[in-house]
Parts: sequence; structure tokens; C-alpha cells
Amino acid sequence: MIRGTVVIDRERCKGCGLCVGVCPHQLLQMESGYNARGYHPVQLADSAGQCTGCGVCAVICPDVVFSVYREGRVKR
Ligand code: SF4
Ligand code: SF4
Repeated sequence: MIRGTVVIDRERCKGCGLCVGVCPHQLLQMESGYNARGYHPVQLADSAGQCTGCGVCAVICPDVVFSVYREGRVKR
């Protein structure tokens, strides 16, 4: 299985929520706190290591919040 992760620049996030709906593993959620711009930024909730680094969140985000990392290999 391909493993990955994302790093979120929470100060760039405007809390639009677009990314939350597109993650195939439902790993993104809004923080209850606020960033310096007054928005609830998104956070990664991936304690089980399910992120594959697919990059869909980064593609849909209009504010370049995500850096996507991907490693590993496909197990057959
Ligand atoms: S890279 Fe893919 S699996 Fe990981 S948080 Fe983004 S949409 Fe979800
Ligand atoms: S799509 Fe981008 S700006 Fe919108 S909530 Fe997700 S990370 Fe924040």
C-alpha cells in the first residue's frame, strides 16, 4: 500500500471546507480553533496512517495550503 501524508499551512487556510469532502479516506476536518486570519483551518486526522498522498486535497484547494508527500511501493 502506498503511504503518504500532507503538511498543512494552517495560516493560509480560509476554512472553505472544499478539501474535506474530496479526501477518499475522510481524513480532513476543520479545527475548532482559529488561525490568524480568523478562520477555522483544516487539519489532518490520520492516526491510522491511511493517507496515500493521492494529492486530491491539494488539487482542489484554491489557496495552496497542502504539501503532499508520498512514499512506499505498491504491494501485490
Ligand atoms: S493526500 Fe489524499 S488521502 Fe491524503 S489527506 Fe489528501 S486527499 Fe486525503
Ligand atoms: S480547500 Fe484549502 S482553503 Fe479550503 S478548507 Fe481546505 S485547506 Fe482550507
